[in-house]
Amino acid sequence: MERLIEPTMVWDGTAFRRGMRVGIDAQGRITAVGVDLPGDPERLSGALLPGFVNAHSHAFQFGLRGVAETFPEDPSTFWGWREAMYELVDTLDADRCRALSAASFREMISHGFTSVGEFHYVRHAGSGDAHRHTLDHAVLDAATETGIRLRLLVACYLTGDIATPLDGAQARFDAESVDHYLRRLDDLMATIDDPRHTVGVVAHSVRAVAIEDIVRLHQASVERHLPFHIHLEEAPKEIETCRAVHGTTPMRLLLDHGVVSDNVVAVHCTHTEPDDMRDYVAAGGRVCLCPVTEANLGDGISDLPVMCEAGASLSVGTDLNSRTDPLEELRWLEYVQRLARQRRGVVRGIDGDVGRALLEIGTVGGADALDLQVGRIEPGHWADCLLCDLEHPSIAGANDEQLASALVFSGQRDVLKQVMIGGETR
Ligand SMILES: [Zn+2]
Repeated sequence: MERLIEPTMVWDGTAFRRGMRVGIDAQGRITAVGVDLPGDPERLSGALLPGFVNAHSHAFQFGLRGVAETFPEDPSTFWGWREAMYELVDTLDADRCRALSAASFREMISHGFTSVGEFHYVRHAGSGDAHRHTLDHAVLDAATETGIRLRLLVACYLTGDIATPLDGAQARFDAESVDHYLRRLDDLMATIDDPRHTVGVVAHSVRAVAIEDIVRLHQASVERHLPFHIHLEEAPKEIETCRAVHGTTPMRLLLDHGVVSDNVVAVHCTHTEPDDMRDYVAAGGRVCLCPVTEANLGDGISDLPVMCEAGASLSVGTDLNSRTDPLEELRWLEYVQRLARQRRGVVRGIDGDVGRALLEIGTVGGADALDLQVGRIEPGHWADCLLCDLEHPSIAGANDEQLASALVFSGQRDVLKQVMIGGETR
């Protein structure tokens, strides 16, 4: 049965507009949007916008909250944090993985994320065949339990570093070979029967997969019409090692081997050379930034002006999930650039409106990174939407034109009155 709603305002991709009606079918898809849709609408008080898309998450890292934040001797880096993460991996059985993933997903929904790209690399619950891949299903079950829309980005992980065997906790990530990985991926696709769940192809990083295998994985993603994600240039050491072995940067290595197309999402790009970035974007590549995680890990500050000038399709992710709040990610995306460059308005839309540009990154950008029909309130898209309280004190002073910026820079979690996924209230 079709449902017709008329919120006070609806985000049409460029502005909040009044008097718009939205039709939603029984499957949870938007069927029509317009001012003159016939029928007796259900009136909703508040502003309707698309649910946010979390393009990069490691849900189990919810278990690291409060961990690795003490530095009695010296300050640490990403690599020190990774040791703490590996200790968590050692404790991860299927029940704990499912519980941590569900806690992450539940909190994401409460903050307004309606879809997640779960970059899933801890795939084994222990050693031995009985434990192989069981964590794939732990994550899928957590998504079912919470109702979040999931793109399970199944990671291929084969080496401990460039041309180095897996070591210690990394055994839990082992994909064995590209052939084995692809067989498993196809099996997984065949068993998924929830319309909210899909998969994607991942090479964990140039550290964890040899370039010839990255090429094969990328080709497999194109053949299967699936997104292809990879961690890239988050830490200088990765670039140094790549230069020592391959004589070039990880990004240039991908470009030289044709690993770039509009389904490719490079995650982080914190230290990417401007020319590499321009060539990558020109070839259709997308970028996912994780500002809160990059700050937490002390990774550095990406060259966002170059990405914006090149017209990059950007998205955000909560990565280590110390926080799972889209508004916080989006405001950090802009604020860290303001601090570093001593200028305001780094992320600007065509009319210079930062709030609008950030909302687009959090919705359309994420949807495109995960290739999901979400992020837009348009016919044919899933009715994954948020209803914002226009009377909430954190945004109450804003007029219609200021609302996007007010939401991003000032909105609090409880500004959300309702979170809808596939037309169902969560
Ligand atoms: Zn990550």
